[in-house]
Amino acid sequence: MRNHVKVAVIGGGVVGVSVLYHLTKAGWKDVLLIERAELTSGSTWHAAGGMHTVNGDPNVAKLQQYTIKLYQEIEAVSGVSCGMHVTGGLMLAGTPERVDWLRMVQARGRYLGMDLELISAAEAARLHPLLEEKHFLGAIYDPIEGHIDPYGVTNAYAKSAQIGGAEIVRHNRVVDTRQRADGSWDVITEQGTVHAEHVVNAGGLWAREVGRFVGLELPILAMEHQYFITEDLPELAGRKELMHAIDFEAEIYMRQERGGMLLGSYERAGVPWSPHTTPWDFGPDLLPNDLERIAPSLEVAFRHFPRLESAGIKKIVNGPFTFAPDGNPLVGPVRGLRNYWVACGVMAGFCQGGGVGLTLANWIVEGDPGADVWAMDIARYGDWATRPYTNAKVRENYSRRFQIRFPTEELEAARPLRTTPIYEKLQVQNAVFGDYCSLEHPLWFAPKGTPAREVATFRRSNAHAAVGDECRAVREAVGLLEISNYGKFEVTGPGAADWLARIMACRVPAVGRIALSPMLNERGRLIGDFTLCRISAERFFVVGTYAAETYYMRWFERHLPPSGVTVRPCAMEYLGLSVAGPQSRAVLASLVDRDLSSVAFPFMSFAKMDVGMVPAFVGRISFTGDLGYELWVTADYQRALYDLLWQAGQQHGIRNFGGRALNALRLEKSFGTWAREFRPIYGPYEAGLGRFIHLDKPDFVGRAAAAAEKAKGGERRLITLAVEAKDADAIGDEPIWHGDRVVGWVTSGGFGHSVGKSIALGYVENAVAAEKSGFAVELIGERRPALRSDEALFDPKGLRMRA
Ligand SMILES: Cc1cc2nc3c(=O)[nH]c(=O)nc-3n(C[C@H](O)[C@H](O)[C@H](O)COP(=O)(O)OP(=O)(O)OC[C@H]3O[C@@H](n4cnc5c(N)ncnc54)[C@H](O)[C@@H]3O)c2cc1C
Repeated sequence: MRNHVKVAVIGGGVVGVSVLYHLTKAGWKDVLLIERAELTSGSTWHAAGGMHTVNGDPNVAKLQQYTIKLYQEIEAVSGVSCGMHVTGGLMLAGTPERVDWLRMVQARGRYLGMDLELISAAEAARLHPLLEEKHFLGAIYDPIEGHIDPYGVTNAYAKSAQIGGAEIVRHNRVVDTRQRADGSWDVITEQGTVHAEHVVNAGGLWAREVGRFVGLELPILAMEHQYFITEDLPELAGRKELMHAIDFEAEIYMRQERGGMLLGSYERAGVPWSPHTTPWDFGPDLLPNDLERIAPSLEVAFRHFPRLESAGIKKIVNGPFTFAPDGNPLVGPVRGLRNYWVACGVMAGFCQGGGVGLTLANWIVEGDPGADVWAMDIARYGDWATRPYTNAKVRENYSRRFQIRFPTEELEAARPLRTTPIYEKLQVQNAVFGDYCSLEHPLWFAPKGTPAREVATFRRSNAHAAVGDECRAVREAVGLLEISNYGKFEVTGPGAADWLARIMACRVPAVGRIALSPMLNERGRLIGDFTLCRISAERFFVVGTYAAETYYMRWFERHLPPSGVTVRPCAMEYLGLSVAGPQSRAVLASLVDRDLSSVAFPFMSFAKMDVGMVPAFVGRISFTGDLGYELWVTADYQRALYDLLWQAGQQHGIRNFGGRALNALRLEKSFGTWAREFRPIYGPYEAGLGRFIHLDKPDFVGRAAAAAEKAKGGERRLITLAVEAKDADAIGDEPIWHGDRVVGWVTSGGFGHSVGKSIALGYVENAVAAEKSGFAVELIGERRPALRSDEALFDPKGLRMRA
């Protein structure tokens, strides 16, 4: 075994070998993989080997496509067969809602370059003779689904990596990892210590244990998973291999395995495996099976596929594999641990392993994943993702694997966990809460006497009218909104202003002023969007997206100078309320002892003031795009502040509003938001943020790339569309058509109640970005005509917010 390497990868499952291969492909030959037993001896060996391209996140879907296409490459490099069977696959719909879902999946596939065909139940029955047509309403046919041999794939990656210069050491457990003062690592194994510049935790079933070597508690949990293989069916003899099928109503997936059928299920009452600690002596063992657990699914499946009921069972597999709370992988550098990387929680290693390996290798070698990996970035979880939280969420996710997640639906597990002091006050006013990073926040307020619950639908829900009332209250009088769920950071020190000038693309605001600022990476792509509020010469209050707190802190800490600047996340220390609407000034003015006129406290001002007896930071800014204020107080004052504003607002017709109304209001203003319009695949000029990029500053991260984007014009443009919708608005990820071509995708959408229009924001190719008409947005399978608007649909000159 080498004793010094650039990268030591811990774990020889399908994910570890993929990372290793991609490192060698990127030119790093001095890399080592250490495996406790034989390759594949975690979850990998007993996988059913299915591969699918569909994923809820389009960027992960792209990486799944990449993974499947990669198998031919590693077969060619290594000469080892991956045992590929590209049979094609069916996703079957048995309810009208599932047909809607299939239409939306097919639509999204259009701009992802996927060839998904919506077919009738009769056609599905022709392709898959074991199914009974009468139970289904239609299906999607995907020609590139199929299955592989887990051993073959793992060994093809491993051999390809070895050909590229990597070393693989088997039967050698890593027992500890210790960081040296220079940030490099001592990887301590049963066979001695290896000094490595970087460590990758690809420990799969043991990733938690490997993480604990460095005090890291990764939010992953293994679940038991069962599939079985039937005896040979005479019907299958001598015919072309049957294609894959997912029967969502039965919650069953199936495929042909030699002469029989393989059936697996994600049962509702899933069982976690080794919830605390994975035993090191767990080998290539199967868990005791319990088909009773999947009996409810089988009952439905046997009705839908009657021939299977009488088929004998040849083999049952029950094996564990790991999940993160949302079911997507955990990939990337760990905040606070230099040169420590994870590639774990990969629940579909044969669909995602290639993409995970590619992006992690890019990240290690180039310093950037080279793709939008937010959906699988480990930084999407914070300290709130404790082990019991993870346990509750993983079980929920597993049990819902084959259920539809509606955009109006809030999941119940692990709730309520974090609440702010006004939670009960809002609850008695019939707030419908959403869960954001385990924090409860009001989405909308149900009318008195009606249940505080939103129906699950792809169409406009029972919230529509109430949200409309909330929006009108803001536009016509005044609304009160809890904004504690924003991310907040305090930046202090003599070097604070210079540091912000370097890390942010905007001009740093003067004391008492606010500036909006994109944050760019070296490639000039958008990695953040902030509000910088300057409290004093050396103190800033920075507001951003809470879900990205760890992501931002990881970036901030990487760019901090050795001294002179301190950055501190303080999201739960400062809770927030926003008053917005034409009467908001009158409400606030009645509580403060100072002039709030637009001369004395103009748009984009920031100051500390006493609101009644409550000391607060007040910013004159509102994401509603109306006259409005954001007030930040320490948690102990939030109840008092809420009561003050509520009381003072009575004579002005104040009304609570929630996140759903805020979304509608910001769409009317064409305001983008992080993770929707602003993501690392877009540049600031593409995103319409050019006016916040101060290229006249001598230097800042991403400046050269941003200047180049400005000069060349980027590849696409963010546009605003007014859509002729019927009873469903865009939600995001729908294709945008121009004429008979798909020219882009929606990033977010909804109904603009004060302009009476259905609105979609989205990116389109530059070539059509200036067109006014000819657009259509595909909403649940229907192309709805859309008109591009040159400006925001509400108050395009921004007079209201400056009033
Ligand atoms: C029953 C079942 C069916 C499945 N079906 C499918 C499917 O159809 N399609 C699909 O895509 N996925 C499927 N999966 C999931 C798939 O198996 C996993 O996504 C994949 O195996 C994860 O691979 P991994 O490399 O992350 O982890 P693992 O396979 O668990 O590999 C981790 C490796 O790290 C090694 N290791 C851990 N700690 C150390 C240490 N300290 N020192 C040295 N080595 C260490 C382990 O020995 C192990 O070999 C299935 C899983 C199960 C259980």
